[in-house]
Formats: sequence, C-alpha cells, structure tokens
Amino acid sequence: METESAVLQLTSMGQAFDDALRQRFGAIRLWEDKTLLTSERAAAVAAIVTSVRYGCDQRTIQALPGLRAICSWGAGVDTIAVDLAKSRGIQISNTPDVLDDCVADLAWGLMLAVARDIVSANQYVRNGEWRELGKFPLSTRISGKRLGILGLGRIGAAVAKRAIGFSMEVRYFSRSHHQDSLLAFEPSLLDLAKWSDFLVVACPGGPATKHLVSSAVFEALGPNGILINVARGSVVDLAALINALEQNKLGGAGLDVIEGEPGAPSRLLERRNVVVTPHVGSATRETRLAMERLVIDNLSSFFRTGRVLNPVFQ
Ligand code: NAP
Repeated sequence: METESAVLQLTSMGQAFDDALRQRFGAIRLWEDKTLLTSERAAAVAAIVTSVRYGCDQRTIQALPGLRAICSWGAGVDTIAVDLAKSRGIQISNTPDVLDDCVADLAWGLMLAVARDIVSANQYVRNGEWRELGKFPLSTRISGKRLGILGLGRIGAAVAKRAIGFSMEVRYFSRSHHQDSLLAFEPSLLDLAKWSDFLVVACPGGPATKHLVSSAVFEALGPNGILINVARGSVVDLAALINALEQNKLGGAGLDVIEGEPGAPSRLLERRNVVVTPHVGSATRETRLAMERLVIDNLSSFFRTGRVLNPVFQ
C-alpha cells in the first residue's frame, strides 16, 4: 500500500471501486471530509483520483502543493484544469482505448434507433397498436448511405470501422488531415455535413469545440440528415438543434450527451425523431471494469516509476 493519504479521491465512483482504491492505496475520500483541502493533510496528497464527470478544478489543484498526478476515470479532460496542471508539471491520465468500442457501439445503436424508428416501434407494439392497426410508418434506410465523422480520434475511428458492415461510404472532418487514413478528409465541417446522411460527433468537448455543430451545420445536413452525438453536449448548440428539428430542417438526432445534462428539455423529448440516452456510452459492465483497472494501473505506475501509463500530454 502507498503511504497513507498520498491518494485523494474526489468523488465516489461506486462501492467496489471506492473500496479497491482504499484497500490498495489507502485513498482518502474528499466527500467524507470536506475540510480536507484546507487542512494540513492536504500537503501529503501526491495523486488525485477523479472522474471525468466530477473533474478537477483550479481550486482543488491550488489547495494541494504536493500534487503530481491526476488520474481520471473516463475519456476527455474538459472538466480538468489542464493549463494549471501543466504549468505545475502535474501529470494527467485518463482511460482511453478501453471504452472506444462500447461508445462506438452506442453511436451505431443511436443511428439505428433514430433512422429505423426503433423506440416508437417498440412502443407501438407495447401499446397494443400492432394488433389493432397493423401498420407502422416507413423509416429511413442506413445501409449504403453516407456517414460523416466529426473528430477522427479513437472513438471516431471505431465508429468508422463499423460502417464496413453497413456498406457505407465514410468521410471525416478533424482538427488535422490524417494522411495515414484511408478515409476521405473533408476540408470543413460544413462540407462534411453537406455530404453526409448521418453525422457522428466524436471530438472532445471544451471551449475549442463549443457549439461547433451549429444551425449552419444543421442546414447543411438537411431535412433528411441525422445527427448523432456521443462526444460532449457542449459541442452541439442545443437551442439551434431544437429549432432545426421543430422547423423540419433536420431529419433526427440521437444524443448520448446533451448541453446542461443530466436531463433533456421536453421540446426535444416530445419529438419522435429524437432518441436520448443518459450518457451511457461506456456504461457496460465489461468496459467499466476495464476503466477502473486502468485507473489503478495508472496510479500504480505513478507510484512505482513516477510516470502515469496514459498521460494526456507528455
Ligand atoms: P481522441 O482520440 O482524442 O480523439 C478526438 C478527435 O477529435 C481527434 O482526432 C482530434 O483531432 C479531434 N478534434 C479535436 N479538436 C477538434 C476540433 N476543434 N475540430 C475537429 N476535430 C477535433 O478522443 P476519443 O477517445 O476518441 O474521445 C472523443 C471524445 O468522446 C472525448 O473527448 C469525450 O468527450 C467523448 N467521450 C464520450 C463518452 C460517452 O460516454 N458518450 C465516452 C468516452 C468519450 P486530430 O486527431 O485531427 O488532431
């Protein structure tokens, strides 16, 4: 076990994982003792464990003079005060790679659910309408259509890989042109949206991508276009999305993440061509276990070698 109180856990992440962190590293729990950050014990903290949802703000980092590593559970660092951590030489790790497949699977689940109207079809059967009416409205074909990906990173690439089975042509727009990719690069997000039947958002959140998916993108995607967001709610302008849907300027939306989450506005939920899931991209038993293991591996590596395994920046 590492030295008592060297690890500070900022938020509970489930009984089993909390217990493992305490057993293995003697992790102390901020939610059990809120005075910790202002007490003398703060000086002994070398590593933080947090989740991407809870994050780690400037105030927390400033309160911990001996902090050298932030080990985060989840992908993305938009809730962590990265610039301050960098300036103090504090390493940040997260849990990429192990969750890519599950998030990509969910993106496809949302595509299928929206295009093929699966949620309403299920409700139709449950309501007894199948027996009474016998006719369900036609939906939208996916196979053979055009798939655009915003952000060709780990998750974007995993989404693209799955398109082979659907005989779809795939193009992408990303911060940079990936010369080693076989996929076609579109020079702008608007060009990508104009070309796409389905647009999957898989870039990071944070100020650089805030409302990148705007009314202009919805116009470009068009009345038959379907938007899928498995990245961060902040990337999509929610008010513009609702307007586009209400004015039938967009064909539908599948959202695992949403601005202002948790929760979603009723104007969105009352639309049949919208499917919302509660930020569950990585939420399978197998992947969550792999993410927990990776946090523990990052912490162990940090205490053993001075370096985390999955540094977000070098
Ligand atoms: P990643 O490997 O870092 O990939 C992100 C990609 O986005 C990179 O290819 C990057 O571009 C691109 N990008 C960055 N800034 C951009 C910009 N301004 N415009 C266009 N493209 C930009 O990350 P990942 O592991 O695939 O994860 C992506 C995001 O998914 C995470 O940041 C997280 O917010 C979200 N996520 C959601 C869930 C969920 O439960 N729904 C789970 C995990 C992750 P270049 O490579 O071209 O530089």
